[in-house]
Amino acid sequence: MSNDIRVRFAPSPTGHLHIGGARSALFNYLFARNQGGKFIVRIEDTDQARNVETATEKLMESMKWLGIDWDESVDVGGPHAPYRSMERLDLYNRYVDQLLKEGKAFHCYMTEEELEAEREEQRKRGETPMYSGRDRHLTDEQKRAYEAEGKKPVVRFMVPKGQEIVVDDAVRGKVTFDSDGIGDFVIVRTDGIPTYNFAVTVDDHTMGISHVIRGEEHLSNAPLQVMLYEALGFETPTFAHASLILNEDRQKMSKRDESIIQFVEQYRDLGYMPEAIVNFIALLGWSPGGEQEIMTKNELIEAFSLDRVVKAPAVFDTKKLSWMNNQYMKEADDDQVVWLAQPHLQKAGKLPEMMSDEQKQWAYDLIVLHKEKMDCGADIVPLTELFFQDEIEYDEDAKAILGEEQVPEVLEAFLKNLDSLEEFEAAAIKKAMKDVQKSTGHKGKKLFMPIRVAVSGQQHGPDLPQMIALLGRTVVTTRLKGLL
Ligand code: GLU
Repeated sequence: MSNDIRVRFAPSPTGHLHIGGARSALFNYLFARNQGGKFIVRIEDTDQARNVETATEKLMESMKWLGIDWDESVDVGGPHAPYRSMERLDLYNRYVDQLLKEGKAFHCYMTEEELEAEREEQRKRGETPMYSGRDRHLTDEQKRAYEAEGKKPVVRFMVPKGQEIVVDDAVRGKVTFDSDGIGDFVIVRTDGIPTYNFAVTVDDHTMGISHVIRGEEHLSNAPLQVMLYEALGFETPTFAHASLILNEDRQKMSKRDESIIQFVEQYRDLGYMPEAIVNFIALLGWSPGGEQEIMTKNELIEAFSLDRVVKAPAVFDTKKLSWMNNQYMKEADDDQVVWLAQPHLQKAGKLPEMMSDEQKQWAYDLIVLHKEKMDCGADIVPLTELFFQDEIEYDEDAKAILGEEQVPEVLEAFLKNLDSLEEFEAAAIKKAMKDVQKSTGHKGKKLFMPIRVAVSGQQHGPDLPQMIALLGRTVVTTRLKGLL
């Protein structure tokens, strides 16, 4: 039944929305919308040392910017509130008590030093270090003795011996784990706060989550959660672990690698379009089949299914992202492109914060002229450098072009034609150029290239008459005169 489909994105509020997190959020969102189910955002904040105060707001802001909305969460509430783990401690405690009472969990008083010593022994014996089970069967008397020493226990889950744990995964099929390779893991820390694996299991069950869709880095947590589901008598949801996201060197992306832009907010700040980012992220480990790559959010919703989530790692190809954003910018309204790019000219000090109507129009035309070339809004700054320079440098190639025989005649005629223009605008400038062709007989490259190089110092650039119009009469005539 479609309305039993309930999925969630469960970020820990530790920082900005990472590309990997955004991918999990998006896959859950697309799945929910495709199935007519519910999408929940739950804040998993039990690892308090890692919490960052404004992270929840920032994560939500980035999701909203991407156009991902949710049905239940900390801000909009919902039938399973609260949606923040730290407000659900009573609930967790009830289930911890249940496990303790049933002998499926136990208090462990081992100190970090004792645990390390134990691991060291195991390593020496060539074994994989794992909790030994020392405190599995403490008597009340032993417990009291530890307490008298001031020791605070953790609660560990008693991992059943010799079992095959099966994670039924919509992407990977049945993935099996040997329980003997998993030590009795901590479910409640000494401060009484549950660990991620425990809280997530209780939350997913009590919130009626039908599908747990997340990144492959959580696949190793899945058997722990499956054991908890079984011990608590809960029905296990369907898991779906999307592939890892690798960098271009095919290494796992590290959040600390500053050579790649990895946070959604950074893309927003660089003037990327949310539609492009969504499109790009959707294709990280999911394939719609067929050739079409540019897809709107609605097309993605329509096409999304878990059986097309791929097992093979996805590669975060920044060139593809630039290409995709460029495709979206080319198709976007001029107004929107200006809105994305103009702040970058202002931030770079090229344009004042407060602009006259005339300046606004000039900036508008300048940005639109470069629309096709921009991979993101910030690109406008390097692309338009020559519009903000008083002097231009002519490199060797430019000098060679300006040294051609016909150049003085062409530039002189052009300058004369420009002088007689009443309106210094593109159509008139174009005509002035045509008139040079008529009067001198030079045409094509012989005509346009020296003019382009003379006014811009470059052989390539946007539409020439428009560029000249935006450079303005004073700049253009000064540059031409300087060469004659
Ligand atoms: N809080 C976990 C994280 O941020 C969620 C993992 C999950 O989806 O189960 O990675």
